[in-house]
Amino acid sequence: MSGMSELYQNVILEHNRSPRNYRAMPDASHTAQGDNPLCGDQVTVWVRLAGDRIDDVSFQGAGCAISKASASLMTGAVKGKTRAEADVLFERFHRLITGGLAADERETLGKLAVFSGVSEFPVRVKCASLAWHALKSALNGRSA
Ligand code: ZN
Repeated sequence: MSGMSELYQNVILEHNRSPRNYRAMPDASHTAQGDNPLCGDQVTVWVRLAGDRIDDVSFQGAGCAISKASASLMTGAVKGKTRAEADVLFERFHRLITGGLAADERETLGKLAVFSGVSEFPVRVKCASLAWHALKSALNGRSA
């Protein structure tokens, strides 16, 4: 991944090695699976809603470092957020990885900004957004 800063690469590699919230959730209220056949990434996302708020979120999956680190950082970013707030984050994150996010908006993404370099690698966009799409499917879809 040349072209990405070393700091950002290190964060991604660290989350790939030690993903956060990496577990099944037996009492989830919503769940969905994501699949990226281009790269072979697979992810399952579990959410437990409390009213309109994401009380807990977790994932498990197999795939490349980008997909796993993105899922890990996503769970940290959306935990405690409302569905609407999570939607806004995803919209900004998607613009970040496709190169359409202004610098001042980038600051609102916190650690998620480590994926800014993905915009230089279009084939990796699906890796970085896989868990987010699964989250959205979980929240919009059937209950677990
Ligand atoms: Zn991938």
